[in-house]
Amino acid sequence: MKFLYPVPSTSIVTQTFEEHVRRAQANNWQYYNGGIDWAVPTGTSIKAAQDGTVKEVRNDATGYGTHVRIEHANNYLTIYAHMQKIDVKAGDKVKAGQVIGKSDNTGNSTGPHLHFELRKGSTPIDPAPLLVTKLDGTGSGQEEVVESGGDMGIEPAQFPALPKARVTATLLNVRTGAGTEYPAITTLPAGTEVEVLRKVVKGNDIWLQIGREQFIALKYQGQVLGKWV
Ligand SMILES: [Zn+2]
Repeated sequence: MKFLYPVPSTSIVTQTFEEHVRRAQANNWQYYNGGIDWAVPTGTSIKAAQDGTVKEVRNDATGYGTHVRIEHANNYLTIYAHMQKIDVKAGDKVKAGQVIGKSDNTGNSTGPHLHFELRKGSTPIDPAPLLVTKLDGTGSGQEEVVESGGDMGIEPAQFPALPKARVTATLLNVRTGAGTEYPAITTLPAGTEVEVLRKVVKGNDIWLQIGREQFIALKYQGQVLGKWV
């Protein structure tokens, strides 16, 4: 499957995928994913790289800033970070080349640029060899032949719903691990409901995993910060 450049294809690359990975290794950053950075002026239109469904629009003050995640066919995911104005919302269907918002310099960014990531499943991959200025046909792509066997089992009649919890603290940190020793990547305001993937008990503290490398404290040092829904 190919992907459209999310910025004008003539934009200057300020950090390649390789350079991102090397920088992360040099600094021993565990939670720093490869991607491509293009220096683009604030307000540049950012385009969806492929047909897909908007998974999430979020603002992480210290990381990706205002960013969009789009799910595509064949288990691909693209991330568009450090943006300003977002024109889409979670659940929206988008077409390849559709403008999803404008670029900026939000989050952990030192200058106006787009940080763009491509993942297949949870594996970050270098988008560079897959980027094109024009897609053939509809752009939705053919189902790929993946060389792996495996038994998917029997699909349940209905997926069981995940347990939910609601944030009761005024503002609750989301951390990359279950503990305050892990960096906070964003915050959730009181009233936010989250689906809980896993409960982690550490001594008297209770942490909830709410996403990949996303944890919140339900109870920390005797303080109750959230409530099961
Ligand atoms: Zn970057």
